[in-house]
Amino acid sequence: MDSYAVGYARPDRWSRSRPEDTVSSSWHAVEAHRPPAELDGEVELAACGAIVQVWGGHRWDRVGARDTACAECKQLTRQQLTRAG
Ligand SMILES: [Zn+2]
Repeated sequence: MDSYAVGYARPDRWSRSRPEDTVSSSWHAVEAHRPPAELDGEVELAACGAIVQVWGGHRWDRVGARDTACAECKQLTRQQLTRAG
């Protein structure tokens, strides 16, 4: 299943009360109900609950393997992929 788009966290949209340690996890998985290319640029809710802007040019199966990707999103999408396989 290729149902995840890549979302990029937008610090400028966070409230000032948010802790800054979230900066290290900039990439999140967004459940894509439409082709990721169609969601490009839209603000969506990531799998972990973060507010992110979809970056349609990236693929989650590649970005999600990086250390900079959100650990919670990685875990959530891994469960999905395992179940689908
Ligand atoms: Zn996340």
